[in-house]
Amino acid sequence: KNLVVAIDGYSSCGKSTLAKALAKKLGFIYIDSGAMYRAVTLYFIRNQISCADELAVADALQHIELNFHARDYESHITLNGEEVSEEIRQMPVSENVSEVSAQKLVRREMVRQQQRMGKSKNIVMDGRDIGTTVFPDAQIKFFMTADPKVRAERRFRELQSKGDTTTSLENVFENIAHRDYADTTRTESPLVRADDAIILDNTKITPQEQLNFALDKVKA
Ligand code: C5P
Repeated sequence: KNLVVAIDGYSSCGKSTLAKALAKKLGFIYIDSGAMYRAVTLYFIRNQISCADELAVADALQHIELNFHARDYESHITLNGEEVSEEIRQMPVSENVSEVSAQKLVRREMVRQQQRMGKSKNIVMDGRDIGTTVFPDAQIKFFMTADPKVRAERRFRELQSKGDTTTSLENVFENIAHRDYADTTRTESPLVRADDAIILDNTKITPQEQLNFALDKVKA
């Protein structure tokens, strides 16, 4: 049987950093489920799809094809063949993704695709509902958290290093707080720790320390 490592947690608390590092160490495939919701959101923005219009949402989902391309364990995603990995990290998408990801039809389709990707391969997948809904039987689950201020600073620095000069630290902090609230209170698979998930708070530890902690648990 193939192995699944599920990593869930709040926004911007280092899930993808840990997931990538673990995948590299273990030789597993890394899948960023958030990138899928972000790419769908980008499509909705570009095509002015309103979440309130269920028919339009259902139709849009039929016209969206997402694909991952792994390069050096950095995951790249394409939306109908177009590389959108950079654009989906920018604020317009971050500001709309909670609403889109709360839609039942969107989640149903993403979960279906995610389950297919983890059916026969060893994977590390990060997101909000991986250990609860997508792979409730995952062999190992982590639930990540960190101080919201620390998370906002890290994400702000990351955006700055990518040349984004339009966003303020306050803006990033508010977006993170908003997404945490939306993700934990929505009706469709809200963000919640799976009973068997190992808690990892990385407020005060380095990426290397968190990798070592996780590797110890995986090997145990
Ligand atoms: O992980 P990331 O922050 O890129 O995810 C963007 C958004 O996608 C989250 O704020 C959340 O609303 C949604 N998401 C989700 N379920 C997942 C992954 C992401 O609802 N498994």
